Amino acid sequence: MARCCLIVFFAALSSLFGVLNASPGDADPIYKACVEQCEKTGCVGSKCFQHCNFSSDKNPTDGPWFLQEPLYLRWKQWDCHSDCRYHCMLVREEEREKLGDRPVKYHGKWPFRRVYGIQEPVSVALSALNLAMQFHGWVSFFILVNYNLPLRPNRKTYYEYTGLWHIYAIISMNAWFWSAVFHSRDVDLTEKLDYSSGVALLGYSLLLAILRAFSVKDEAARVMVAAPLVAFVTTHILYLNFYQLDYGLNMKVCVAMGIAQFLLWAVWAGITQHPSRWKLWVVVIGGGIAMLLEMYDFPPFRGYVDAHALWHGTTIPLTYLWWSFIKDDSEFRTSALIKKAK
Ligand SMILES: [Zn+2]
Repeated sequence: MARCCLIVFFAALSSLFGVLNASPGDADPIYKACVEQCEKTGCVGSKCFQHCNFSSDKNPTDGPWFLQEPLYLRWKQWDCHSDCRYHCMLVREEEREKLGDRPVKYHGKWPFRRVYGIQEPVSVALSALNLAMQFHGWVSFFILVNYNLPLRPNRKTYYEYTGLWHIYAIISMNAWFWSAVFHSRDVDLTEKLDYSSGVALLGYSLLLAILRAFSVKDEAARVMVAAPLVAFVTTHILYLNFYQLDYGLNMKVCVAMGIAQFLLWAVWAGITQHPSRWKLWVVVIGGGIAMLLEMYDFPPFRGYVDAHALWHGTTIPLTYLWWSFIKDDSEFRTSALIKKAK
């Protein structure tokens, strides 16, 4: 536990001084000079920042003693750094727009406009809506299987995948929570949490696709399928967090797991006589189109809506339909099992 705390502490600390990959925007000498100037004076044009208010001996010039701790000072310096970068970027982008130039990326990200300090407000709102949609789907599924459908004599549900879908709901809500956090403040720690939760969700939904499409109901067989997949996903998450956050490698792993489950569901939807297979089709095709959006990376419209935000938008109706399919599946399996019992 102590070691775990230490790791979290160092991850948080390194995030404060993390160096991001260079992009065309931050390689621009005018932008560089602006940030340098701002960190000295605390101002960009007529705009000045409180956080950049240091005295010559690098102690905050005002405030009570307990706010003059070194850690607080570091936070302040980092806030100053981040504000300077942000406002220099806005100024630079305005100048570029007047010259008729297209937006460029800064430190690996498109120039977004903040709203109340939130970096990508549209993506945050859409992530929150996705989370709400998952929660709604999960609650309605819970009510259906536990209260509206008949239960086995041992009070368990007839549907064989109930537990698996409960875990799915928790993993996906966790992923959308960290997505909202990451899009509101992009630091090393929030980025790693978002990526790790996303990979965990993709890995788990691939496992579910295999178990459902091949009707794996036996506990031992399920463990045999899950073990290598869980081992792989865990190793990948540990690699990203504690060795190297390799975006290229992570993209390959995610695309591979994504395509594998899309193919599984698509083939299964083609073969099965499931009464709700059309819902599967819509989710598979819609998900495929949404994936193209994620790959086609365009700059944010008016500084707010980029391809990634739109991608988060498309998953909202798909999530609704997805849970609707899961509920249909539980009804379908329950009635089939009851018929068989009679
Ligand atoms: Zn996102």
